[in-house]
Order: sequence, then C-alpha cells, then structure tokens
Amino acid sequence: MTTEPSPDPDAPTGLLDRARQDYRDLAARGLSLDLTRGKPAPEQLDLSADLLDLPAGRHTAADGTDVRNYGGLQGLPELREIFAEALQVPVEQLLALGNSSLELMHDCLVHALLGMVPGAESRWVDQERIAFLCPVPGYDRHFALCERFGIEMIPVPMTPDGPDMDVVERLVAENAAVKGIWCVPKYSNPDGACYSDGTVARLAAMATAAPDFRIFWDNAYAVHHLTDEPAEIADLLAACAANGNPDRAFVFGSSSKITMAGAGVAFFGSSPANVRWLLAHNAKRSIGPDKVNQLRHALFLRDADGVRAHMDRQRAVLQPKFEAVQRVLETELGGTGLAAWTRPKGGYFVTLEVPDGCAKEVVRRAAEAGIVLTPAGATHPYGDDPRDATIRIAPSYPGLADLEQAMLGLTTCVRLVGYEKRPA
Ligand code: PLP
Repeated sequence: MTTEPSPDPDAPTGLLDRARQDYRDLAARGLSLDLTRGKPAPEQLDLSADLLDLPAGRHTAADGTDVRNYGGLQGLPELREIFAEALQVPVEQLLALGNSSLELMHDCLVHALLGMVPGAESRWVDQERIAFLCPVPGYDRHFALCERFGIEMIPVPMTPDGPDMDVVERLVAENAAVKGIWCVPKYSNPDGACYSDGTVARLAAMATAAPDFRIFWDNAYAVHHLTDEPAEIADLLAACAANGNPDRAFVFGSSSKITMAGAGVAFFGSSPANVRWLLAHNAKRSIGPDKVNQLRHALFLRDADGVRAHMDRQRAVLQPKFEAVQRVLETELGGTGLAAWTRPKGGYFVTLEVPDGCAKEVVRRAAEAGIVLTPAGATHPYGDDPRDATIRIAPSYPGLADLEQAMLGLTTCVRLVGYEKRPA
C-alpha cells in the first residue's frame, strides 16, 4: 500500500471548492461506467476464441477415454498434468471438475458440514459453533458462503505477507470451533498481496485446537502476472505433509480468468485422503464432469508453457489498464493525504484506502455520478468494514478510455468526500 504524505496544514484553502466544482461537472456528464466485478474484458475472452471450435470433432482423450460419455470422476489426466505445476499439486492428487472453483468451495463446506472430513470427530453441522478466519480485506463470495451456512466469521488483518500470523496462530490454537481459514495466496483479492514463505510455513506447521482444521487455499490468480517478476509462493500441500498435517489444505483453482469465465474448468487438489473423501461425495452428486470441455482446454492450452504464453497475452490486455489506474491515482490523489492504494504485481484488483468513515460515501457519490463501484464493506465479513475505508477497484472489464474516465470520477469523489470530512 502506498501511503501519500499528509497535505501541508498551511495549504491554500479552496480544495473543497474545487472538488465540488469538479463533482458538479462530473455529474453533468451523465456517465454510465462500471468498476464492480473482476470480469475479463471481451478482448481477453477473444484470446480463447479457438476454444469455440474445439475439440474439432475429436472425442478421445489421451488414455482412450471417450469424452462424450459418463464417467471419469477425476477429470482428464492430460488437463490435470497441465495445471499441476501452477497449482503446486501432484497430478495424482489433482482433480479437474466442473466450471467453477467457487462451486467446489461451496461443495467442500457442505460435505464438511454433512459428512465428516478426514480427521474430524463429528460433522461440522453437529457442532454448536463453527468459525472461519477471514483475512481482511478479502473476497466477498467467500464471506457469502460462510453467511449462507451459518459459519461465524472472524476477521484477521492482512499484511503484505499474508494474514497476520500471530493472530492466526493464537485463534486456531485456542478454539476448536475455528475450523478453517480463507486464503487467496497469490495476488490476493482484493489487495494483491502474495503470501511469503514464512506465512506458508507457519500455516502448515501451526498447532490447531480443531483436529479437522482446513485451509481453503483459493489460488485463483496462480498464473495471473502483470510484471516480468512472476510471484512464486511456497508449496502449501508439501509443507503441510512435511509438518505432519497432510490433510490440512484444500487447494482450489480454475481456468475462469485464463480462458472463459463461466466456461472454464475448476480444480481441487489435496492429500490422498481428502481427494478420496471428495471423490466419494462427488460420486453421489454427479456421474462425471464435462470431459468435452476438459479435452477442449487440453487441446487449446497444450501444456504449462502454453498456459504461460496465453497468460502473457492476457497480461498485454490487462497491464495498460492497471497502469492507467496507478497513473490516475498518483496524478489526482498523490500528495493529498486522502488516499493509499496497492500496486499489485498480478491478479485482478487494486485496493484503495480512503480516510476512515469515507468509503461508503465515496461509493454513493460515485454512483450518483454514474460510476458503479463494488459496495463499500464488501471486502469485509458481513459487509462491515469497521473503518469504512476500503474500496475495491476492478480495472479489467471496461475499455481503457472508460476506465480512465471512471478513475478520474472516482478520484473526484474521494477529494469531495475527503475534504468535506476534513475541510482543507
Ligand atoms: N476465487 C477468487 C479469489 C476470485 O476472485 C474469483 C472470481 O473473482 C473466484 C474464486 C471465482 O472463480 P470461479 O470462476 O472458478 O468460480
């Protein structure tokens, strides 16, 4: 997070007047712009256009499986091989499943509630209280799953190295009701943080009061780099196994933001016991995943290098947008003391911090001027950001010109609300 210095207390007045005038001009333009969800832009989806013509009459997987038929609960081996490296899961412990990793996280929660995870002494649903640690800011859909299933959420502050591990270690050690933690370990949603090796080591080794504690390791942005320095994170599954906690990690990933969002392939990786557990539940739920889509993806991406080359093409579309966001923030808010923001090296989001008590009002004023932002508070459990300071910016979907307009409008709203609250 870049913190801008506070303004000179003797600075000339009139900053609020200027912000008010800029806001009036902004509102008069009748914009209709959307910075809410981290969706790929059409140009990004176009990069995978060939998928629409695949598997081009083929219907046989490398092992001879007829992909048109039922079966193959583990998913196609050739596709699992392509993603094993990026997700840091041995191919025999990696499943290729449906079209959404969020769906897999949902299912794992349901199966843990209704059927015992390996190592559990009872079903989660039979316990009086179940809680998950939620690093904040975090991903609103993780929090929505907890709310849906009555799982209490305990916020844990994020640091540039991942969640504050002193807090995590204390909470998991003292309370057996704490059954899990949400983690987006690489280019985290929304602050772009990457978990340090030390954080991964501590997560793998820490003592937990719950014998059935699980790390929901949502590696959604494993290959989504925006610079020439791709982030590497430590191998959580291997670290858990090395520390005698082989069943601790559930690894999730998908090709949603690699190929086509909503028409990609989702992956689950874990210990052999956890993989058997999920497969046993999946066998009741489905007669097999969509192997035609899996074959299509294997033919299109070819191998891990194919994924890298494809992500370079994604980066060429995304990087100018992320640079534009930084440029506007620096030009318009740098030195005002009104904002701090992240400079992510990958992923899909930028986090903007405004003065305490201002985020909701900034989002409201932006909406009134035709710029829709993710609701303030969405980055925190129960939609409650206690400081009311965090705004998530999703630069991917709008075109560059619209994005710049939306960012200029947003910064106008930050100046307006910031100076109204703290007169210049
Ligand atoms: N996990 C994170 C952290 C995300 O940001 C997203 C989408 O924004 C998802 C999961 C959704 O992934 P999928 O499309 O595989 O369900």
